[in-house]
Amino acid sequence: MSDSFRALLVNKDDEGYHAGVENWSTDQLMEGDVLVRVAHSTINYKDGLAVTGKGPIIRQFPMIPGIDLAGTVEESGNPDIAVGSKVILNGFGVGERHHGGFSQYARLKGEWLVPLPGSLSTLQAMAIGTAGYTAMLCVMALEHNGVTPDKGPVLVTGANGGVGSVAIALLSHLGYQVTASTGRVQESDYLKSLGATDIVDRAEFSEPGRPLGKERWAAAVDSVGSHTLANVLAQTSYGGTVAACGLAQGMDLPASVAPFILRGITLAGIDSVMAPREKRLVAWERLARELDLSKLEAISNVIGLEDVPEAAASILAGKVRGRLVVDVNA
Ligand code: NDP
Repeated sequence: MSDSFRALLVNKDDEGYHAGVENWSTDQLMEGDVLVRVAHSTINYKDGLAVTGKGPIIRQFPMIPGIDLAGTVEESGNPDIAVGSKVILNGFGVGERHHGGFSQYARLKGEWLVPLPGSLSTLQAMAIGTAGYTAMLCVMALEHNGVTPDKGPVLVTGANGGVGSVAIALLSHLGYQVTASTGRVQESDYLKSLGATDIVDRAEFSEPGRPLGKERWAAAVDSVGSHTLANVLAQTSYGGTVAACGLAQGMDLPASVAPFILRGITLAGIDSVMAPREKRLVAWERLARELDLSKLEAISNVIGLEDVPEAAASILAGKVRGRLVVDVNA
């Protein structure tokens, strides 16, 4: 192992945030019982906020951002993690308060790691990444609340985004009829190739609406929040479930209790960061089995470490379609 490696560092001074690739050494990494040689990371919305400083994601500076990574264990002091095994990391504050995935090496706690399912490459795992894993947590929440394909259409908001794209592919694979809500209707062919049967313009949901509307959806996966989530709740059919995982429109929820007390709607909150290990293992194992890998390829583009700052700005501007994988060795 070479002691010097490349990593994207974010620093902050009076003029703001600065992100750039630097040479770094393993003794500068933080504490952990496992050293991972990173192969791939990815750009999530949260990484966009962290790298640009548009959101207070990073808790100490300098920081190597990157909330998820996949690679090979190079050193291990953890009896459950073998040297040479391939692993995935996402969440647990990595890339926020612990050096993360935009680096050729990461030192981590073994208990944070999930084994890479045998059928996935590190590139495919990061094409899924936190966004895809969160989409699976959303699907699992719908199932947990009794949503089945025969109940009616499922709405996916933020459809062209990472969570949305993977949610469409998963739901369609499981036999659901999927309606995609998007601000980029020109991408309808892409959304249909992932499995969406209908496309609606997100403008339908983005303004203040009525407390209850026509019942249109058996369930929904929402990565947008704000008025969109309020309107989706108001249009969900009796007994339906909405999995809420994101805030692309806003963090507010200007809704009424009407959908809950008059239609028995369930609002299922989804957190990927601290999700318990058992749930992670099930989610990753299901992703490996239930996601059509050819669709995954269509969803993803690969970039290098140097491209991360520009990609971070693009994802915040809503310009990224699907998933961006970072090859940290490119
Ligand atoms: P992306 O940026 O890839 O996707 C977000 C999508 O939302 C965009 O592609 C766009 O889709 C839509 N969108 C953007 N701005 C607006 C707006 N103003 N109004 C309505 N729709 C908008 O992000 P991700 O898919 O990676 O993440 C989505 C959200 O989920 C983020 O808020 C993220 O922070 C959150 N998240 C939460 C997690 C958790 O643990 N709870 C884990 C992972 C993500 P289109 O162009 O099709 O309209």
